[in-house]
Amino acid sequence: MQTAQRIIKKYRQKRVIVCVMVALLTLILTLGIRFISQRNLNQERIQAFATHSVTALDKILLPLQNGRDELQSLVGVPCSEAHLMLRKRAATLQTVRSITLVKEGILYCSSIFGDRNVQIRLTQPALPSSQPQLILSTDQSLLKGSPILIQWYPVSDAGEDGVMQVVNIDLITKMMLEPQSPLITDVSLKVGDKFLRDGQSVTDTLNVPEDTMILRQTSAHFPFTILVSGPGASELALKNLPSELPLAVLISLLLGYIAWLATASRMSFTWEINLGLAAREFELFCQPLLNARTQKCVGVEILLRWNNPRQGWISPDVFIPLAEEHNLIVPLTRYVMTETVRQIGYFPANKGFHIGINVAASHFRNGTLLRDLNRYWFSAHPKQQLIVELTERDALLDGDYRLVRELHRKEVKLAIDDFGTGNSSLSWLEKLRPDVLKIDKSFTMALGTDAVNSTVTDIIIALGQRLNIELVAEGVETQEQARYLRHHGVNTLQGFLYARPMPLKDFPKWLAESSPPPAQRNKPILRIMPLR
Ligand code: C2E
Ligand code: CA
Ligand code: CA
Repeated sequence: MQTAQRIIKKYRQKRVIVCVMVALLTLILTLGIRFISQRNLNQERIQAFATHSVTALDKILLPLQNGRDELQSLVGVPCSEAHLMLRKRAATLQTVRSITLVKEGILYCSSIFGDRNVQIRLTQPALPSSQPQLILSTDQSLLKGSPILIQWYPVSDAGEDGVMQVVNIDLITKMMLEPQSPLITDVSLKVGDKFLRDGQSVTDTLNVPEDTMILRQTSAHFPFTILVSGPGASELALKNLPSELPLAVLISLLLGYIAWLATASRMSFTWEINLGLAAREFELFCQPLLNARTQKCVGVEILLRWNNPRQGWISPDVFIPLAEEHNLIVPLTRYVMTETVRQIGYFPANKGFHIGINVAASHFRNGTLLRDLNRYWFSAHPKQQLIVELTERDALLDGDYRLVRELHRKEVKLAIDDFGTGNSSLSWLEKLRPDVLKIDKSFTMALGTDAVNSTVTDIIIALGQRLNIELVAEGVETQEQARYLRHHGVNTLQGFLYARPMPLKDFPKWLAESSPPPAQRNKPILRIMPLR
């Protein structure tokens, strides 16, 4: 059996665990959501940057492509005629450094220098070419060493003739390739097998570690790729996470607190009692009451037992006070009434057989007990005598006495339980007019061992006899106690000496087997202290 404190502690521990779990889960979830959204945002930004760079270069190269027919028709035209046209064209395209015409592999006309006679292969080894080419290269003539982007359009099938447009890539790298720390630490332009980084010259290799590469975006119109390096969307989002922590902790604490409030009723012992009632985990036991002289069973007291599948057997000393405290004693007593009526067949069906049920004082309020008895007890018309046991410690309110009178009218007997342990006055007895006084087991046990308490027992017995109230002694465990009580005129005895509380279904067998020993029947009753 468990103590109330242990059970309540267990519930509190469970509740704390649940709330801590809720808070932790919220923390993980909040941080997770923040991480994912930040990572997605980073990814979007990286993508937007690369797209923007590619579009920017496309926008520069597209006009060059669109005007190529006009320029191609100039190839072969003497430079003196074509030169002006080339200059005009270069002037309108701000990003073009120069436009040159090539005939039979010889660069013979330049928008800047006019007539020339240079083998194109000597300055640009990849040219001339029969295919249109985009080449990342280094300027050899005007701004020596500066990066340039060459757009080559061949005219003849052999590729010896063509138009070469040189783009001033240096000017545009700033807007295209400038890193955006901390998201983007490096940006490179790749054309063919050449690379260009912001503020640097053209190189054959990419001087950025491969594993830092987070995005490659290739143009849909021209053969170039933008390479973006950085710590990565996820890593950066992870680094950003500590700054999200205060808000996440606040949210998780709030949810943990809400969970604490929400579980107040669900994760409590009272909730468990409700659950137990619904699942019919409570079982009725009965303990026989014997006539002190004839030793015949004259009735039973119904006692509740709780076989809780989660906690094991729980003593009524644990759950009854808690049920009283949390307004659950009335539903529990209703359960006792209906279950007793359902199993009434186990008891002798005659008026002389008493069935005692324990009722809390709160059940007397507003006539509830009478209504419940009408509904659950009298409706089944049991033959047995009903005794309502009310503990002396429970205070009845003035209004409750009317209900006590009603009970008497209905021939329900009233017993004062645990008599002698409370602080009732004699006037209370007068007012209540109980039919039975149940002497608490502490007084029975004191007989022969504790002088003060056994004197109180004598006084209680005398009081009962004086007021003509039936006496029942509880907790009779020894023959000596039984003998003493019988000798002093206690009518009924109840205790482990005769029987421990048993399941109702076991009662018929016990009744059949118990046969009273006839020897002590003839001893005279001793009136111990006539109270006159
Ligand atoms: P109670 O009404 O005074 O019930 C008598 C208690 O004394 C029972 O304990 C019974 O098992 C125990 N008892 C009987 N004979 C002996 C004996 O010889 N020696 C000892 N040491 N004990 C004996 P139980 O069943 O544990 O019930 C404890 C209390 O719980 C009851 O005291 C009663 O106040 C309450 N209770 C039990 N069932 C109900 C119920 O259905 N409704 C209400 N309101 N209270 C109940
Ligand atoms: Ca009782
Ligand atoms: Ca008692």
